[in-house]
Amino acid sequence: MNASPARCSACGADAVVGGVCGRCGTPSGEANRCPHCSAIARVEPKGSGASLTWVCGVCGGPRMPAGAGGEAAMTPLREAKASQSRAARARASFWLFAIMATFFTLVALAAWPAGLIVKLILLTLAITPTAFAVRARARAGRAKGDANEALDRAWLAAAEDVASHAKKGVTVAELASRLKIDPVKAEKLLTQLAVHERTRIDVDDDAEVRYSVAPELDTSRVRVDSTEDQFRALEEAELDEEQAKKLATPAFPRGSGR
Ligand SMILES: [Zn+2]
Ligand SMILES: [Zn+2]
Repeated sequence: MNASPARCSACGADAVVGGVCGRCGTPSGEANRCPHCSAIARVEPKGSGASLTWVCGVCGGPRMPAGAGGEAAMTPLREAKASQSRAARARASFWLFAIMATFFTLVALAAWPAGLIVKLILLTLAITPTAFAVRARARAGRAKGDANEALDRAWLAAAEDVASHAKKGVTVAELASRLKIDPVKAEKLLTQLAVHERTRIDVDDDAEVRYSVAPELDTSRVRVDSTEDQFRALEEAELDEEQAKKLATPAFPRGSGR
């Protein structure tokens, strides 16, 4: 992730931090490659406060600053983009059907003193697009919910990635600055990781709460001599195995972010 050169290839300034030049803003390095459009492009802020997210400067798809989360974040990001497109299409059909419904309702009102058959036809023409509009609206809502849920998973993966690369763990403020998000959101992510048992919580010497990812389990301590110790070690090993299984299951299965 830190493979980017410190010297900017565009302006020559030694100002490249996290793959983006601090002077001219030129992005560089694989961490800035967009998982959607594959361009090496800058991320741009969208929204503000706790709802601030980052999108690709080229295609507008959801992204993580400096490619945080790597592969683990890319799958949910792609899912989020697909759901966002679905939501946009459903919103477009909603407006189309809503306009049709309004138009045919007006026509029906204007031509009301007509024969029964004409009335029935006009009513059908007004009601059918109304029903389609209602359905499209519900579909848009569901797709938006799916997109937000996938985005939550992407943010969790990014937060876990940052926490796992920090030897002593991260604080809320550190995560907020690394992921360029609101501290409120950073705290929510770290709390969720702790709830999912993905992080450990410690209080450091400065009374700051640090979240860290548990180091790899040490199997060397199974080698012991007395029978009693062996039993205890066996029990511990079994516990470790259970823990390992827990770790091997998908980090954030569908629906866990809610
Ligand atoms: Zn530059
Ligand atoms: Zn893109």
